[in-house]
Amino acid sequence: MDFQELRDMMVKTQLISRGIRDKRLLDAMKKVPRHLFLDESMQHKAYDDMALAIGEGQTISQPYMVAVMTELLEIEGEEKVLEIGTGSGYQAAILAELSKEVYTVERVQELSDRAAARLNALGYKNIHFRVGDGTAGWPEEAPFNRILITAGTPKIPEPLLEQLSEKGIIIAPVGDRFSQQIVKIVKSKGKFSESFHTPCVFVPLIGEYGWK
Ligand code: SAM
Repeated sequence: MDFQELRDMMVKTQLISRGIRDKRLLDAMKKVPRHLFLDESMQHKAYDDMALAIGEGQTISQPYMVAVMTELLEIEGEEKVLEIGTGSGYQAAILAELSKEVYTVERVQELSDRAAARLNALGYKNIHFRVGDGTAGWPEEAPFNRILITAGTPKIPEPLLEQLSEKGIIIAPVGDRFSQQIVKIVKSKGKFSESFHTPCVFVPLIGEYGWK
């Protein structure tokens, strides 16, 4: 199977055709080998237009959803980014291609270990891993210029708002257990403004400031 050809096709038919325009993001999605973030038995589906199972009842998000959320983060290159929900590690790789440092938190130890092994094997040196409840953020490393929550939450966890830098952006799927909408929070002069984007369905963010 020619995975590079499948990736180029994915970018053209699933991302560019639906309005994704950020050139650096499109290049990153052409480059990162998404199939290596899946079990071998699932690799033939890696470039399909859907979320896929990664074990432990969790998922790797649909490529288009990864692109929408990442484009909304408006990353230019020098940012310190916090990701909540490492999962397979694929989204962390995309963020690492675009920004300076990525801090990623996962509550399931095995998923974090597997993601770290893959990302180390791929040579990423700017991704830092933590196992725990990401709804509390990563206070020792705050503030962050960008924060991405990759699991569905009833509201933006308060600690993450506190750990966002001035001019920072948070992107998260906010809603009930079974359907959410992508919300963008921008911090300016200490105040938060929010806008609402694509409807979506994510696995739940489970933790002190998410779902119990
Ligand atoms: N970003 C991932 C990727 O690229 O594969 C996909 C993330 S998956 C949709 C959501 C992840 O969030 C799951 O791995 C889940 O275990 C994790 N999660 C849920 N609640 C969490 C929490 N409070 N802290 C950290 N991770 C959490």
